[in-house]
Formats: sequence, structure tokens, C-alpha cells
Amino acid sequence: MSFDVSTAARERGIKYFLVSYTDLFGTQRAKLVPAPAIAEICRDGAGFAGFATWLDMSPADSDLVAIPDAERLIQLPWRPEVGWLPADLAMGGKPVEQAPRNVLKRLIADAAGDGLQMKTGVECEFFLITADGAEPADTSDRQMKPCYDQSALMRRYDVIAEICDAMLALGWKPYQNDHEDANGQFEMNWDYDDALVTADRHAFFKYMTRSIAEKHGLRATFMPKPFMDLTGSGCHAHVSLWRDGRNVFADRSDELGMSPEGYHFIGGLIHSADALAAITNPCVNSYKRINAPRTTSGATWAPNTVTYSGNNRTHMIRIPGPGRFEFRLADGAVNPYLLQAAILAAGLDGIRNRRDPGPRLDINMYTEGHLVEGFKQLPLNMLDAMRALANNDVLHDALGSFVPSYLKLKNEEWNAYCRHLTQWERDTTLDC
Ligand code: GLU
Ligand code: MG
Ligand code: MG
Repeated sequence: MSFDVSTAARERGIKYFLVSYTDLFGTQRAKLVPAPAIAEICRDGAGFAGFATWLDMSPADSDLVAIPDAERLIQLPWRPEVGWLPADLAMGGKPVEQAPRNVLKRLIADAAGDGLQMKTGVECEFFLITADGAEPADTSDRQMKPCYDQSALMRRYDVIAEICDAMLALGWKPYQNDHEDANGQFEMNWDYDDALVTADRHAFFKYMTRSIAEKHGLRATFMPKPFMDLTGSGCHAHVSLWRDGRNVFADRSDELGMSPEGYHFIGGLIHSADALAAITNPCVNSYKRINAPRTTSGATWAPNTVTYSGNNRTHMIRIPGPGRFEFRLADGAVNPYLLQAAILAAGLDGIRNRRDPGPRLDINMYTEGHLVEGFKQLPLNMLDAMRALANNDVLHDALGSFVPSYLKLKNEEWNAYCRHLTQWERDTTLDC
């Protein structure tokens, strides 16, 4: 029998439901539905004007409906009378092809056709800053190498512990929290799971972290590079692929414990990396993270080359242990659903076409990269990444009409950026 939201509402004291979908730019859009009306909304969906959000639609289009995925109900730990329901978009009785959660579900079904299931864990880095967004909120957090700073971590205990308590209560199995490499930056880790479960949790984590930070008079930001001299915020994904309950990436005979399928999957990511960046690094600001010079801490820890390695953080892909790899390209602005969909699309292509990832590099890519040849740089800006996506057949075939829709909206964003004159241009060019 399917999960009954009305019964859950009665049993758990939920008075309202946020029926929520994530648009192409990762913004969560919701309607707040009172409990007595939720059964009908679960059946018929909640109506939205698509053009009013970041979707490729026109103001003349008929309404979209967002149909809650009832089994994925998450009760807000900091406001238990509200339940969050991720929803799938439909129009005229059909799924909306460009909607990110639908894109991911299609990819998951595609992999399932080959008996495969991707499991992922995401590492969402974020800053706690002042409410006006100007600077890290903790003015005592000034070390040049602030990573793992115990005192700075504990000065934010109230916020971090409240978020971690919430994850414990939700059964996500959180296992560690740390101060990251930039002043005011943190990371909180919970257990890996199926790609869709992780994507829903990732979306909810961002909402929860912002909400709890706000309660404490702070602002949480996942912006990729909010401060030019400090390390940016990545969103690493740890990836494994399973068949019949067995991790097909695990192979004891390999030096790094990675199977041929694992290397082909990595080969797929390497093959499509510049196009993937348009999705995993979705903003103008994203390219300030991956192309930044050294930060005050001594390293950006972000990749700038299309390379893979063993346990070495200076590459796009790191194999830290047997049976999984860490994809280090994506940043804090990534859409949680598109992150999973893009990795799965490129990785499946790698397996199906037995893509060769090329030689593994074990050097420090920041200081020794110029000594070797035969690898590509990651895109220098959003336009280069978008052009790569426009020319990438693998992602077009796998992600369907989402790709032209996404490129259309992102082109408008790029054009808006190009109409913006910066102070730097005036300072350097006024007297030319
Ligand atoms: N903050 C770094 C990034 O932008 C990653 C640091 C780490 O290795 O956790 O990707
Ligand atoms: Mg980190
Ligand atoms: Mg990591």
C-alpha cells in the first residue's frame, strides 16, 4: 500500500505541507498546503505558473502541476508542524521533460535498464556570513590556515549542532562536521545513499542550513566563490555503482581498488568534463572558484584540469579508497538533481562506450601541471562551458530537451552579465 500523507499528518502533528519543486537554476519553489487539503493535492498536484520561475516556458503556457512524491516526506526538524514534499512537475498529464527531478528519474530508470544503481554522498561546503552578506560572521576567525580550526568550529556550535541534530533525527546518519579551509566556512557530512534520496536530501539540506542559520541571526551561503582570497565552496560527490547489491566499482586486484567499469565511468566523466561543467558549475561566479590563483591558505583545493588521481586533492577526480571515487568539480551552486543526473549520464556513456580515462596523474597539479602534457584545462568561464555543452552529444542524448531549455536560460543569464560594467574595468581602462 502506498504511503498515506494524511495519516502521517495526523500521527506526526503536521499542520502544513510545503509542496516543493526545484527549478532549472536550483531555486526551490513551493506552495504551503494545509493538512486537510493535502490528499487532493497529492492526487491532482498543486498549480504553478512555470514562466514565473526558472523554467523554459512562456507566460501564455497553461499551468504546471507539482505532484508530491509522498514517500519522500521530510518533517522540518526546526518547525515540526511543517512537512516538506519534493514534487514532480507535469503538464497535460505528462511529466515535464526539462524539470530537474524528472531528468534525474529518467537517468535512474535508464541505468536500472542495465541493472545498475548509482549511490552517492555529497559534501556541501558553505559559509556562515553576516546577514548583509558582506563578510564571514565570526570576526575572530582569521587564521591563515583555518581548516579544522577547533575553536572557530566550536564558536559556531549552536548552529552546527542544531543542523546535525536535525540530520540525526531524520535518520540521515550524519558522521562528521568540520571547519573548512576558508575563514567562516564549514562542511557537514551524512551517509551516502541512492542518487534520488541523496538529491532530495541535498536540496533539503540547503534549505535547512539557510533556515537554521537565519534563526541564529546568520546567513548561510553556498555561493562558489564569495571571497576572492579565500577557498571557495565545492560540492564533491562520492560515487559508486551497484548491481544486485554488489559494488561494481570494487576490485581488489587493482592498485587503487577500482574495477575496469569504474575506470570507464571515470573515462565518461573525463570525456564530457567541459560540457558537464555547464551543469555542475552553473554560474558566472563558479569559474572564479576553479580558476582562482592561490588563496591565503596556500591552495584552492578546487580542480582546474580534466585529470584523475589516487588520493590527491589537486585533480578533478580523486580515488580516495577502493570502490568509489570523488568527483571534485561541482560547486555549491549546483542543482542537486542535475548534479546526480549529469554524473550518471556521463558515467553510463563511459561504461557503454568503454571510455579510456587516460593515464592517472599523481603529481601536484597546482605546481607541477606544466611538466606534463595530454590533458585538458577546465573551462575558463561559463560561456566556454555552455559552448561545450551545446556541442556534447552524450549529454544531449541522455538529458533530452532539458539541454536546449537550460542553454536558452543560461544564455540569457550570460547576456545579463555581459551588460554589467565592473569597477575593475573602469579602474583599469578609464585612462587608456
Ligand atoms: N573547498 C574546496 C573546493 O572548493 C575543497 C576542499 C576539500 O578538499 O574539502 O572544492
Ligand atoms: Mg571539503
Ligand atoms: Mg571532499
